[in-house]
Amino acid sequence: MNNRIVVLGGGESGVGAAILAKVKGFDVFLSDMGTIAPRYKEALAEYDIPWEEGHHTEELILNAAEVIKSPGIPPTAPLVQKLTEQGTPIISEIEFAGRYTDAKMVCITGSNGKTTTTLLTYHILKDAGLNVGLAGNVGKSLAWQVATVHHDVYVIELSSFQLENMYDFKADVAVIMNITPDHLDRYDYQMQNYVKAKFRIINNLTPQDALIYWQDDPVITEQLKHVTTDARLYPFSQEQEGSDTAAWVDEENEIVFSTPGEKLNMPRADLALSGLHNLFNSMAAGLSACLMNVRKEDIRRSLSDFEGVEHRLEFVADVDGVRYINDSKATNVNSCWYALESMPDSKSTVLILGGKDKGNDYTEIEPLVSRRVKAIVAMGKDNSKIMEFFNGKVDTLVSTGSLDEAIARCREIASPGDTVLLSPCCASFDLFKSYEDRGTRFKNAVKALK
Ligand code: ADP
Repeated sequence: MNNRIVVLGGGESGVGAAILAKVKGFDVFLSDMGTIAPRYKEALAEYDIPWEEGHHTEELILNAAEVIKSPGIPPTAPLVQKLTEQGTPIISEIEFAGRYTDAKMVCITGSNGKTTTTLLTYHILKDAGLNVGLAGNVGKSLAWQVATVHHDVYVIELSSFQLENMYDFKADVAVIMNITPDHLDRYDYQMQNYVKAKFRIINNLTPQDALIYWQDDPVITEQLKHVTTDARLYPFSQEQEGSDTAAWVDEENEIVFSTPGEKLNMPRADLALSGLHNLFNSMAAGLSACLMNVRKEDIRRSLSDFEGVEHRLEFVADVDGVRYINDSKATNVNSCWYALESMPDSKSTVLILGGKDKGNDYTEIEPLVSRRVKAIVAMGKDNSKIMEFFNGKVDTLVSTGSLDEAIARCREIASPGDTVLLSPCCASFDLFKSYEDRGTRFKNAVKALK
C-alpha cells in the first residue's frame, strides 16, 4: 500500500504535520514554494524528513496517497488543482492531527475575536489546572503537539482556510463568534462560500457536543436554518432572548452563564477586557469553560485577570495629551466597527485606515465615522478606494504612503483629549510584513514621539 504523505507548506502547521506523519511511520516529503525558516529546517533534519523549497517537484508530489496542505495555499493553486483532478485526498493539518488524539477539542472560529477568545479560553482552562494545549492559528501546531506531548484538552483557533480541508474531524465544543465579510477575495467574492467554510466547524458534532454562537448574528442564525446539527446549542447575547439563551447580561449588569444544571453569575464590570466585542468574547470563553466543568470561582477569576492580547485595541502611550491605540489586527471593516464602538462618542478620534484591500465595503462604519472621527489618515500604497469613499464624509481626509508620514500627519491633526487609532480595516502586506510588524512599528514610532 502507498503510505506516502506529502506536506505542502513548510511553516508551523506543515512542519508539525510532517513530524506527526513521520512519527506514525509514513513515508513523508515536504515541499514549499517559498523559503523555509531555519528553525523548521532544523526540526525536519532532526526527524530525518526530506524537503524542498523554492519550487514544487511534481514527480515527488503527485504520487502521494494523501496530501496535507497548509491553509495559506489557495485551492486554485495549479498544483492543488492537479492533485484534485487526479483524486488525491487533500486534508488540513488539524484533520490529520485529529486522527491521532482523543483529547477534547474546543474549536473557535469567526470573522473577528478568534484569537482573543482562544487565548482567553486557554487562560481559564490552564489556570484551572487542566492539562491543556493551545493550537491552530495561535500557539503551536496541533500535529506537532500530538506527536510530542500529551494534553487532555486543546483550545484551537480555526480560520476558514483551515476549515476548508477538514472532513472527519470532530470538535467537542465548537464556537462561532460571528460571520461578517472577510477574505472574500479567496471565496470568489461570494459571501455564502465563506459562510459555508466557517460552518464546517459543526461537521460531525454529536448530541454530546456543543455549539456556542452569537445569537444576534444574522448570518449565523440564517445559516442555522439551513443546516442540521445534533449538537446542543448554546447561544449568547447581550440580553436574554428566550429560554435557550445560554449567556446574557441581566438587569443588575451581571453576566449570567446558564448550562445544564449550572448557573454562574459575575458582574460585567469585573471583566478584564472592556468593549462590547470583548463581552461577547468573554461569554464564549466562559461558556466553553463551563462545558469543560471548570469551577465557577476559577472562571470568574480568570475572566477578570486576563491581560489582553497585543495589537488588539492595545493602549500604546499618551503623547502630549493624545492617546495612541494599536488595533493593527483590525484587518477587516467589522473589527474596525467594534474599535470605533469603544471610542468616545464625540468627534475626537483620528483614524488610520488602509493597506491591502480585501473587497472592503466601508458603508458599515460610515455612521460611526461621521459621529466619532475627526480625521481619517489613509496609509497605504493605494489609498484611492478610501479617498473616494470618505470624500465629503469626514472633516479631514489625508492620504499618506508610509507609517512615518501617517504618524506625522496624525500628530498635526490630533489635539489634547483626542485618540489616534490604528484600526486599518485592511491587510498589511502592501507596506508591512504582517499585522504584527505594522503594529510593532506603529508602537515604536509612537514611543519615539515622547
Ligand atoms: P481574529 O483572531 O478573529 O482576527 P482577534 O481576537 O485577533 O480576532 O481580534 C481582531 C480584531 O477584531 C481586534 O482588533 C478587535 O478590535 C476586533 N474584535 C475582537 N473581538 C471581536 C468580536 N467578538 N467581534 C467583532 N470584532 C472583534
